[in-house]
Amino acid sequence: MTSSLYGIDAWGHGLVNVLPDGNIGLSDPLNREAEPVSLPEIVRDLKDRGIATPIQLRVQSFLDYGLHRLCAAFGETIEQVGYKGVYRGVFPIKVNQQSEVVSRLVEVGQQYGYGLEAGSKPELIVALAQPLAKDSLIICNGVKDDEFIRLAILSRKLGFNTVIVLESLKEFEIVRRVSDEIGVKPMLGVRVKLTQTVTGKWEASSGDRSSFGLGTYEVVQLIDRLTETGFLDCLVLQHNHLGSQVPNVIDVRRTVTEATRFFVELRKMGVPLEYLDLGGGLGIDYTGENNSTDNSVNYSVEEYCTAIVETVGYAMDEAGLPHPTIVTESGRFVTALSSMLIFDVLDATYYDVPDKPAPREGDHHYMSDLVAVEGYLEPRRVQECYNDAVYYRDEIRALFRRGVVDLRQMGRAERAFLYTLARIAQVNREHPSSGDLDAQLEAYVDYYHCNFSLFQSLPDVWAIDQIHPVIPLQRHDEAPTRRAILTDITCDSDGKISHFVLEDGLHKALPVHDLRDDEDYLIGVFFVGAYQETLGDLHNLFGDANVVTIALDGEGGFSVEHETEGDSIAEVLSYVEYDPQDCLAAFRKRVDGAVARRDLSADERRVLISAYKDSLAGYTYFE
Ligand SMILES: *Cc1c(COP(=O)(O)O)cnc(C)c1O
Repeated sequence: MTSSLYGIDAWGHGLVNVLPDGNIGLSDPLNREAEPVSLPEIVRDLKDRGIATPIQLRVQSFLDYGLHRLCAAFGETIEQVGYKGVYRGVFPIKVNQQSEVVSRLVEVGQQYGYGLEAGSKPELIVALAQPLAKDSLIICNGVKDDEFIRLAILSRKLGFNTVIVLESLKEFEIVRRVSDEIGVKPMLGVRVKLTQTVTGKWEASSGDRSSFGLGTYEVVQLIDRLTETGFLDCLVLQHNHLGSQVPNVIDVRRTVTEATRFFVELRKMGVPLEYLDLGGGLGIDYTGENNSTDNSVNYSVEEYCTAIVETVGYAMDEAGLPHPTIVTESGRFVTALSSMLIFDVLDATYYDVPDKPAPREGDHHYMSDLVAVEGYLEPRRVQECYNDAVYYRDEIRALFRRGVVDLRQMGRAERAFLYTLARIAQVNREHPSSGDLDAQLEAYVDYYHCNFSLFQSLPDVWAIDQIHPVIPLQRHDEAPTRRAILTDITCDSDGKISHFVLEDGLHKALPVHDLRDDEDYLIGVFFVGAYQETLGDLHNLFGDANVVTIALDGEGGFSVEHETEGDSIAEVLSYVEYDPQDCLAAFRKRVDGAVARRDLSADERRVLISAYKDSLAGYTYFE
């Protein structure tokens, strides 16, 4: 079994594991006793129902689990520490706006008084249509216009606890005007910039270089202005967004400590703050390394909660203040685990050659030198053999450029080189050497061409080098014999995955098996439930993938709870302002012209038109 090679136990959170038949199975985190479900079987079953790869697969209990874990961890910590306030989480809608995800979180979150965070007017519109529990909050961040503010204030009359978080002094003036106009007082928050920064991917925009919120002097100005205008009583929440995917729990302690200083000072100035909102930042261990690097975290959710609850509790006790309600806007933690992207490998470009080459009569002597390298290949001399092979190949390439070596000989030389390299790689695998060779050989791994678009389905992999666990979904009872980089079907050379989490750290190539003619070789990319779904774009006009939500039934089976068909080509064309009917009409005219000129038969016409029409209606991916 190869689960250890891929480090599945380290990053799999117990949700992903290898079944006895070598397939990858999904386990229900809310029912650990239940029989795991085979992922390749889910894909086969969906295929039978007409749902093709690439598929974004969401597992309902994984989503529920994320929310339960967060709320339970805060609940338990609060009890252990003897904290006298409560926790009221909110889900930042931008992390996954899919209606199905938001409504599920609202439903499951009822018992926890879980609310929503809206960073824009459209997100507020979503929030106001949800059946939130009585104590839940709606936190409004971001830039707000009159209409946004009017909706937010008036929604209080419907029983929503909608807090307008002021991002600037100017915004307060709009709030004051609208509130006076409609005669309803708002619930206000203030976003305070801390001076402490956090490490990780977003270090540069943390601390006082954050583009959002008020600096210290502006906070003081705001308090004065609120007092002058009679709005001080409305300011009930202090907001400090710690960042996203904060890798080091020490940063949480440091920044929360500073946040409590603001909180205590504001209370001293007579501000009736009741809520301390610490924003996002709770990270996911994508690599399983459990360290403070960008794609990992050096803490558990329980440690994160302890860092917050303890720090806030101590600071309030010291200042003789009641314990505030703690709010976080943890998005990534709640949804990242819930979905995975599954696609099939379409084809491969191999960089090795199985058959031994032989120099021909009249070949340049470098050719026989190159072929001779294999003769002295042994573990002790493996680096030397690599150096020699590269040298002879480069000399032959130079001779080709100068017209000394012809195309056929050059072709033989390239093949001889790849053959030799594969033998070197094999010896190096069996007797691992220290030094440069591993890295040098990684430059010659295979390409596996896969049926997905990185830009559509894994935008953060492209944009910010996000690392997700990626593994084959079958044949884990068989040692993988190849190493490959995964390329997508866009014709952009950036469209590839070339960072992989393995047991011993990050690698540039994924261990994979030889492809078989009779098998769909499936690959899964895990933990894509946060940020990936709507950030994606239409590069090369590849549209949304099919999205399927399943529930695990506890007995090795599953049920389809929800299905959203991916974009058709016609839909994608209309997003970029083509009218598919116009396209069809223009094409038909062209075809009819060819028929009139007798360049095309009536039969050919029928085939061509129906291929065009079927394509318009079909999936944008390889079918
Ligand atoms: C993006 C964002 C979040 C979510 O952060 P995560 O790290 O995903 O938990 C929370 N609050 C604000 C203001 C945000 O902009």
